[in-house]
Amino acid sequence: MKQLFSLLSLSVSVMSTLFAQTELDLINAVNLDSLSQTLQEFTGEVATSVGGNSVTILNRGQANNELAGDYLVEKFNAMDNLSVNTQAFNTNGRNIIATQLGKTNPNDIYIICAHYDTVADYCADDNASGTATVLEIARILSTQCMDNTLVYALWDEEEIGLRGANFYATQANNNGDNILGVLNIDMMGYDGDGDDDFDIDVRPIANSLAMKDDLVNLLSTYNFNLNVNVVNPGTTASDHARFWDQGFSAVLVGESWENSDQTPYYHSSADRLSTLDLPYFYELAKLIMSYMVTKASLVSVDNSLTVSSSTLTSNMNNASYQWVDCNTNLPLISEVSQSFSPTASGSYAVEVTVGSCTELSSCVDYTSLGSDTFKLNTIKIYPNPASSTLNIEHSLNEDLTLELFSLDGKKILQKVLTEKRSKLNISQFAQGAYFARLTQNKKVFSQKIVIGN
Ligand SMILES: [Zn+2]
Repeated sequence: MKQLFSLLSLSVSVMSTLFAQTELDLINAVNLDSLSQTLQEFTGEVATSVGGNSVTILNRGQANNELAGDYLVEKFNAMDNLSVNTQAFNTNGRNIIATQLGKTNPNDIYIICAHYDTVADYCADDNASGTATVLEIARILSTQCMDNTLVYALWDEEEIGLRGANFYATQANNNGDNILGVLNIDMMGYDGDGDDDFDIDVRPIANSLAMKDDLVNLLSTYNFNLNVNVVNPGTTASDHARFWDQGFSAVLVGESWENSDQTPYYHSSADRLSTLDLPYFYELAKLIMSYMVTKASLVSVDNSLTVSSSTLTSNMNNASYQWVDCNTNLPLISEVSQSFSPTASGSYAVEVTVGSCTELSSCVDYTSLGSDTFKLNTIKIYPNPASSTLNIEHSLNEDLTLELFSLDGKKILQKVLTEKRSKLNISQFAQGAYFARLTQNKKVFSQKIVIGN
């Protein structure tokens, strides 16, 4: 039989899908351009905007960092799901605190923190690097539903006695706050010898050693290009020490003082962005993100769909549903069941809500069965199950369009069939069930097919 179907002419179109974000998706969402932009703005290398005015943040010394603090407040306020508090603890001292309440365990608190005050101009490594990382992680995780509470804290007056952190940690202890881990970042952008070494400073206080273990394990889980030095007993020369003082679990993560590979521009106005090792900085930021997302724990809302010939069904049970027309971005009134049977062709998605967490599915292109279906036996798809070749035969006089979908609604193949008999090589597709749809004008033929034996 003549080979009617050339593999080379296969046109495969893959629809974009937005399934519930995984921890890995969120780690990969850490963006070096975004981090670099914040570093440039926060160290005064470029102008930025605060309160609608174009400004340059030249200095963040304790008596001179009002503008820097306002910048941070504005950044946090622009993010969803955060409550932002400024904590003025003395005449010049002001912590900037953003809290994202946990949906499941609001009293279980994880803190990611860095100091934002400085001893000189610029001070990119010490500690715009930590500050930018806290903002970047907040930018990403504030869009997510988390089980536990996350506190994004930026301390003031670290450089003159860890005062901001001391104020917060003392108050937290007095309040009986259930702080389960404090990850402090102070100087994380310098790697002079390029060996990717970094330090975790830890002491055997509360569960600090377990925090260290979790961080070390994440290095291999996600194959970070980093080499760890565990420093125990770790330094008390940064904000985490004030949490140790109050009996909380805490660690410091940053460049390697242990290997004498800290910035040579320490506490000087030569500590500028151009002296940082950005790929190293980026890798550390991703490691820290991996810790925070793991500990905060993503609330699980399955937003995937199953597509059959006449209905779309959310795979999440026991939730609230709202079907959406992707072409207009409008909800479909009264389409609030787990399944939806479109009456017209279009592109549809479902919003799934569990408690106060909502996830939107990907948009699925759907062609209505309409009133015109092909007469039985006009089209044959065989064998079923099929292992390597799928035969498609029809007796119609016009071209047919074949689409193949996985059951979660992903279109994995689209092809115009110009012959009455076609052979489709399907050996490149994973074994499993699929949904084949053949259309001609508004007529549709659909059949579930299984690839495999
Ligand atoms: Zn510092």
